[in-house]
Order: sequence, then structure tokens, then C-alpha cells
Amino acid sequence: MSAIDNLPPLREVIATHELNARKSLGQNFLLDLNLTSKIARQAGDLTGCDVLEIGPGPGGLTRGLLAEGARRVLAIEKDSRCIPALAEVAAAYDGRLRVIEGDALEVNPLEHLTPPIRVAANLPYNVGTELLVRWLTPHQWPPFWTSLTLMFQKEVAERIVATPGSKSYGRLAILAQWRADARIVINLPPEAFSPPPKVSSAVVHLTALEEPRFPADPSVLSRVVAAAFNQRRKMLRASLKGVAPDIEDRLLAAGIKPTERAEQVSLEGFCALAREIKKT
Ligand code: SAM
Repeated sequence: MSAIDNLPPLREVIATHELNARKSLGQNFLLDLNLTSKIARQAGDLTGCDVLEIGPGPGGLTRGLLAEGARRVLAIEKDSRCIPALAEVAAAYDGRLRVIEGDALEVNPLEHLTPPIRVAANLPYNVGTELLVRWLTPHQWPPFWTSLTLMFQKEVAERIVATPGSKSYGRLAILAQWRADARIVINLPPEAFSPPPKVSSAVVHLTALEEPRFPADPSVLSRVVAAAFNQRRKMLRASLKGVAPDIEDRLLAAGIKPTERAEQVSLEGFCALAREIKKT
């Protein structure tokens, strides 16, 4: 394993700072700096970009992002035990790293960042999904980020990139693919982490589109998609009854058979339906 910087190996950092992994914080650390650099490279050209990293832990991915040339990294970490270890990274990288101790679900990092901004994270999966949904549903589009490079449980990653007809296809796929390009860029077995989690993981890379792929009102689209997939086994004429009283006519006007089920409808179809419903 070749060194990416002059800092100690991650095992040593963890031992020095006594960072025994805590389950309650979803701590499964990446210890191979070649792997963290590889993940950082998937985030795109980092030179000239600020990077927002959530959950840096002992700093493996953080070091990858800095070594790959990020202009600045702003890292938000909830576990106070990691802060001294991250201070050593900040010192070694000429102040290009700034660390905020706090909960990523509560801290607003935007005042510390200058566009273009890329986001990278290996986060506990529940926090990751919640942040992803927030980042995909901002008040304004385009969002503050140009790309998101995020580690997920493989099953969640598959839901993000799923296409119609597959059992993974649902609300997350529509949300992600409506206004972004989303693809799985790295698959990782449990042994890539310390301690290993129970399931495999995957890194998903999303790039924000300037404009939505198809026009639709975000809140109407979100309501229709939530209702359709909440009862995914039902025909749309039944699952969407509460959305509009004349739902059969709206479905037909959008080019969708009322007897179809949610997982058969394309993103374009859902957007057409949202436009028809908005006409009321
Ligand atoms: N990025 C490191 C790596 O790849 O080795 C650590 C990954 S570990 C899966 C998740 C990290 O997120 C831990 O350091 C944990 O303390 C931190 N974390 C958990 N919940 C958080 C939250 N709500 N806000 C910020 N950090 C959080």
C-alpha cells in the first residue's frame, strides 16, 4: 500500500486516538488510503472545488479528497473523539481542511462554502438517505452542489439508480433521476470496512442537471409518486384515487393506462401525470 501523504496509517491514527468503532454512530471505517483516494477520484475533478464531507471519522476519505487536490474540504463530524485526529490532517494540509463538530442533520454548512461545491461522504446509511433526499429536494434548482459521491448499503444504491420494471424502482429512483444523473461507480464488499458491516456497499455518484429532465411541479410530482408507490401492488386508478377525483381521465391524458402499477411507469410518465394533475 503506497502512502498518499506523510500522515500515519489509519490503523495507527485509530489506535493513538482510541477511536474504537461505535455502532450507535454507524462507524465502519475505511482504512485503505488507496481505496479512499479511488473514491475521491470518483467525485470528479476536485481542483478548484470546495468539498463538503459528512462524517469524516478518522479522516481516510478526507485525506483522499485533499490528496486529490480539493481546494478546501469542510467536514462535519458528530463524534468529538475524532476531532483531534482531524486536526492533525488539517495541520498537514495547510489549513485546506476545516472541521465542524456537530450533527450533519442540524448544521448548515453553506455559509462556509464557495461554489463550485461537491459533496462526498461515507455515512451511516440512515443519515445518508435522509441527507440525500434533502439534497435532492431543495427550494431552488440548480442546488448548491454540482455532484454528490456517497456510500450506501448496496440495496439503497440500487434503489437510487433503478429503472422501471425492477423491484428496486420507487420514490428514490424518481427523486434522484428527475434532476440528476445517478450511477453506481464502485461496489465494495463488507471486508473493505473496519469493522465489516453485515451487507455489501456501493458508492453512488450523482451529477446535478441544470434543468429537470422533464417539466413538473416538484410538490405535485412528489405527492403523486409517494401515493403511487405507497401502494405499489395496486393499480394506479386505485392507489391514486385520493390524489384527484377524476384520476382515470388524468392518467389517460398523461398516456398511462389506469390499470398499470407504479413500477411500470417511467419517470417521463410520472412527470406527464404531475402536469395533468396540476391543471386543476
Ligand atoms: N468517513 C469515514 C471513513 O470512511 O472511514 C467514517 C465513516 S463511518 C461509516 C460514519 C461517520 O459518520 C462516523 O465517523 C460517525 O461518527 C459519523 N456520523 C454519524 N452520524 C453523523 C451525523 N449525524 N452527523 C455527522 N457525522 C455523523
